Amino acid sequence: MTEDRPIVVLGAGINGAAIARELALSGASVVVVDTADIASGSTAWSTRLIHGGLRYLEYGEFALVRESLAERDRLVRLAGHLVRPLSFCLPIERRLGGLRAAAARFVGFESLARRWASRTGRGSIAVSIGLTLYDLLASGAGWPRHHMLSSRAADLPAIDTGRFPFVATYADAQLLWPERFTVELLVDARSAAAAAGVPFAVHTRARARVQPDGAIVVESIVDRAPIGTLRPAAIVNATGAWADRTLAGFCDTPGADAHQRLIGGTKGSHLVIRSAALRRALHERGVYAEAGDGRPVFVLPFGPELVLVGTTDIPFSGDPASARADDAEIDYLLAAAARLFPGAAPTRDDVQQHYCGVRPLPSTSRAGTPASITRRHMLVRDPQARLPTWSVVGGKLTTCRSLAESAALQILPAIGRTVRGSSRDRPLPGSFAVPVAAESAGQPSGCASHAATMQDVVTTTTTAALGAGFGEADAARAAASLVALFGSRAPDVFAARADAAPPRLITGTSLPLAAVGFCVREEWAATVEDLVERRLMLAFDPLLSAAAIRDVAGELARLGRLPAADVVAAAEACILTLKNRYDRRFHPDTEWG
Ligand SMILES: Cc1cc2nc3c(=O)[nH]c(=O)nc-3n(C[C@H](O)[C@H](O)[C@H](O)COP(=O)(O)OP(=O)(O)OC[C@H]3O[C@@H](n4cnc5c(N)ncnc54)[C@H](O)[C@@H]3O)c2cc1C
Repeated sequence: MTEDRPIVVLGAGINGAAIARELALSGASVVVVDTADIASGSTAWSTRLIHGGLRYLEYGEFALVRESLAERDRLVRLAGHLVRPLSFCLPIERRLGGLRAAAARFVGFESLARRWASRTGRGSIAVSIGLTLYDLLASGAGWPRHHMLSSRAADLPAIDTGRFPFVATYADAQLLWPERFTVELLVDARSAAAAAGVPFAVHTRARARVQPDGAIVVESIVDRAPIGTLRPAAIVNATGAWADRTLAGFCDTPGADAHQRLIGGTKGSHLVIRSAALRRALHERGVYAEAGDGRPVFVLPFGPELVLVGTTDIPFSGDPASARADDAEIDYLLAAAARLFPGAAPTRDDVQQHYCGVRPLPSTSRAGTPASITRRHMLVRDPQARLPTWSVVGGKLTTCRSLAESAALQILPAIGRTVRGSSRDRPLPGSFAVPVAAESAGQPSGCASHAATMQDVVTTTTTAALGAGFGEADAARAAASLVALFGSRAPDVFAARADAAPPRLITGTSLPLAAVGFCVREEWAATVEDLVERRLMLAFDPLLSAAAIRDVAGELARLGRLPAADVVAAAEACILTLKNRYDRRFHPDTEWG
């Protein structure tokens, strides 16, 4: 009887979480195990775009672009609280150029393309052809078509109009917090499992080890305490850039040949810039351009005040957790931004923090630039594993849902089960859209209709905050920040409870202390870092201070999740992580250290 046996998903990044959800929607019991925290891998270190991938067209990846554009439309509808359309500009230096190189790339001659690539980038004709195809491949209503404009036209980013006389405008989408998106996928997976009456569990900071008899032992990494022993029906290795390491350590059959290498990662770095001038220069649009060496670079509005600049693309074979932006990459990205915006060129002092991650790209022996490696995803079954085991290779944030859908179609029948549900039309829990009952919609799995507007939810949350004892000004601030993070789940933060937090904001921020307990109870948050970096997103808040981090640690202690004697040490450890991992600098007005 495999029907009762769980499927173990290794890795709680966006892909592992999406697969767990898809399997749970078919009534499968799922156990998710991550050696760190939810969304603590590449998912958190990305450019945070939900996009078709304009440049993939040159590599003839039409199917990938079409799939990505369909997902872009779907995610804006079903997760609109986190995925928002963003208008983009593409600065262009001249009319001609780039056509020969694009044609060479299209037919697979990457080295020729590099030789022919123009130093002044793609011309307006080449860009127009690409964007026309992009428009044609897009699905969904309401996405504006591209336009070719003079760079001096009104309301465009204040780029160097001397260097770039033309600008193409087009639209894509931004997922500001993929960390929160991933958590919501798991929250939804838990609901789907509860509705199907099957067990569901997420274990973070845990390791799964296979036993000689095929059983899996899950144990805590923190204290090696056993969590449980399972007899899974299948294993999904969704550990991204760690996939080869995971297979080597987890599924090895004694005497079997070494596993075929799956991943050939490249590292990519981003700068988070605090510069009012650069932010103003963007005019609330994203800029997608070519750096001096022809590599693609994005300059994006990031939250209400910051700017995100990325990225690099450098082959990387070390432990993905150790990838850091180096000085050369920081200089390169600053130079790329300065080339576009000489009037608002950012300096090192403007870099609030940087981050770096490894793309889980397929290993390839083909010659070419890292940018030419496909961004497609695939599921590879391990021929040597004792248990039916599949590994995810490649993929993007954008295609996490379609990847999960195809994974369920591949895995469930292979272990004798049927695909009974789908996430195709299922909103995320915090969405402002709600599923319409399948019968009334006449659809196989229901489709989304907007039940509440964001403003309705802000009003309900403000009322809940007032009810919890906040004054009017703080209630309004708390509601706006909570809705930006939790969408329609925001009012639940103030649900009446015996252990409710005191009605106050985390020092210097607009988030209520009660958000800590909500993330602990509902979202598997266990440590100060989980809360600061991946649930409340304070790591990116310009006004983050040591006092705010101590508040979070103190609230964890009040909830009995941290010994009171460890509050100061836990806060200091988090500060150290922020400094080591992001080189986080702090606002001169905030107390620090
Ligand atoms: C620089 C950069 C920019 C990007 N920009 C974009 C973009 O703008 N848009 C887009 O669509 N995509 C983008 N991507 C791609 C996208 O971020 C990744 O493809 C995606 O996040 C991969 O998700 P994942 O779940 O497969 O892996 P991850 O998010 O890396 O998750 C893997 C998880 O596995 C865990 N793990 C590791 N070893 C084990 C083990 N042995 N057992 C259990 N758990 C383990 C890790 O802790 C981690 O949480 C970008 C990627 C990078 C690096």
